[in-house]
Amino acid sequence: MFPLLKYSKEEIAKYYQRVTSDDVARSLQKTNGNFFDLLNLLSPAAVFHLDAMRQKATVLRRQYYGKTVSVFAPLYVSNSCINSCRYCDFNIHHKSERKTLTIEEIERECDAIQQHGIDSLLIVAGENPKVVTLEYLCEIAHVLKTRFSCLSLEVAPQSQEAYEKLFEAGYESLICFQETYDQELYQYLHPAGPKSVYEYRLWTQLRAGKAGFRTLGVAFLLGLTDWRSEAASLGAHAFYLLKECYQSKLQFAFPRITPVSDGFQPAAPVDEAVLEQMMLSFRIIFPQCGMTVSTRENPEFRDRIVLSAADNMSAGSRVTPGGYAVCAEEDVAQFTLNDSRAPEAVYQAIQAHGQEVVYKNWDSRI
Ligand code: SF4
Repeated sequence: MFPLLKYSKEEIAKYYQRVTSDDVARSLQKTNGNFFDLLNLLSPAAVFHLDAMRQKATVLRRQYYGKTVSVFAPLYVSNSCINSCRYCDFNIHHKSERKTLTIEEIERECDAIQQHGIDSLLIVAGENPKVVTLEYLCEIAHVLKTRFSCLSLEVAPQSQEAYEKLFEAGYESLICFQETYDQELYQYLHPAGPKSVYEYRLWTQLRAGKAGFRTLGVAFLLGLTDWRSEAASLGAHAFYLLKECYQSKLQFAFPRITPVSDGFQPAAPVDEAVLEQMMLSFRIIFPQCGMTVSTRENPEFRDRIVLSAADNMSAGSRVTPGGYAVCAEEDVAQFTLNDSRAPEAVYQAIQAHGQEVVYKNWDSRI
């Protein structure tokens, strides 16, 4: 569990079982829900209130984000990684060839991305501090900050001093999945490499927030263990960050684990109904926070969930270095995509539901 949470996994599980239909209805009436209201909405009893939850989430989403959906593209700059995450095809034990893009290659990838109007870029890399160095990341920002209005990072957790340099270089936002809040399971899934240190990863958003990052992304990987206890931890983590990093915005994501080549099987797969319950619950309790829907989900689900919960989605994603233009189709992708539509098809679907596509929602400060 999130270490600052005063309750054990067993206590949280018992609480979920005690929640009644009336408790759920009461939590749905509130305007500022607390941690227990979140649990009520995540509970088994809330399954019978999904229509009401969808309605309330839709109203709140509209209130805070209007009829808009922001779009971004991930840019994988390296799949070199010294970690051994059991559920990822980039892990050190996979014998596939590794690629780290040069600055020239990154510019070619960006040319291809920008042809689709995208103005918000997420730089993604495996964790290899000798290859994906602080200097390399800063150089990327120096080259791209005049091309994109928002640069985000999903790379190895850094120290606060490094985040200060990255912020100064031009990055505004950060995403770091905790993967699981269950420390024992975390050690099993991450047996070696820098990622094996649970606590260092856990306080990543705190260090980035203190360094000035304006958006802090939080998530766990759905499917690794019981989703209700993970969601309780995510909620506790979010309440903590809202207090400690009040100048930053929180951004939720709910990535479901997808098949990898070595056959890793998720112990507790999460279906779409559960995913929707979770996203609606977080939208209702944290209406001001951002929420991203992953390209791991199929087009129908993505088009539907941006009406009620998510406000942000990737379009035309490639999850391998060079995937947009430099073209490395033989390279190993990090996970399976279930929405392979071209960006224009994603935009059309958003508009067909009466929503507006937002390419740029932030003026770069540099
Ligand atoms: S999940 Fe990230 S850190 Fe783990 S092996 Fe994959 S790329 Fe490396």
